[in-house]
Amino acid sequence: MPSQARKLRVCALYPDLMNIYADRGNLIVLERRCAWRGIGFQLNVCGMGEQLDSDGSDLFYLGGGQDRDQLLCAADLVSFKRAALHRAADRGAVVLGVCGGYQLLGHSYVVGEQEITGVGLVDVHTVRAAAPRLIGNIAIEVQLEQQSPPRVLAGFENHGGRTHLGAHAEPLGRVLKGHGNDGTSGYEGVRRANVIGTYLHGPLLPKNAWFADWLIAAALGVQPRDLGELPDDELESQAHASALRAAGM
Ligand code: GLN
Repeated sequence: MPSQARKLRVCALYPDLMNIYADRGNLIVLERRCAWRGIGFQLNVCGMGEQLDSDGSDLFYLGGGQDRDQLLCAADLVSFKRAALHRAADRGAVVLGVCGGYQLLGHSYVVGEQEITGVGLVDVHTVRAAAPRLIGNIAIEVQLEQQSPPRVLAGFENHGGRTHLGAHAEPLGRVLKGHGNDGTSGYEGVRRANVIGTYLHGPLLPKNAWFADWLIAAALGVQPRDLGELPDDELESQAHASALRAAGM
């Protein structure tokens, strides 16, 4: 497909409420890396009370949020967006949840006496432990394609919730430095085909431009190598290296 004919359609879910640690930077990275390649970019927004169009976007993005913001979004997400997100995931669209957004992609998030129901796109559940928050720089090893070598994602995590993988869930990666899903399992995030949840903020994509490219390719249904290298990725490489150093790699 000629690049002019390609367009990445991204849907930001609750960009006003689910956006801590400048998670909106992830959207800017997607837009820039498409623009630099001559790929069109369309940003759709779906907020409170709005029905989600399952066919209207190729990548659905749910950022991080404080417990109270998550609570506000969770009921709305289940009522207005759950079915559409399942339809989108079933046709291969990318769904990316970061931290609070990751927790809501699972079955539930238990905070004290309260159980917040998630959309159940992935087989995980999260419990807010009466224990210190899991905070700090983190690096994880991921293998997104069987035939390619493992790569490293670096970022920052800050969560009170501990996420547990169900019997059928695959982690996104293995913790090299940091806490990950629950501080003990050695796993971070979850992946079911193109549905990905992770605790990595920072935001995630400015620190891991290679992963932004992987997401763009997956959302467009092409191989990452088909996107082609960008002529100058020096700043992005430095950002990645700096995040790795911060994590002690
Ligand atoms: N409120 C959630 C927790 O503390 C998620 C926080 C976040 O998105 N950083 O576990």
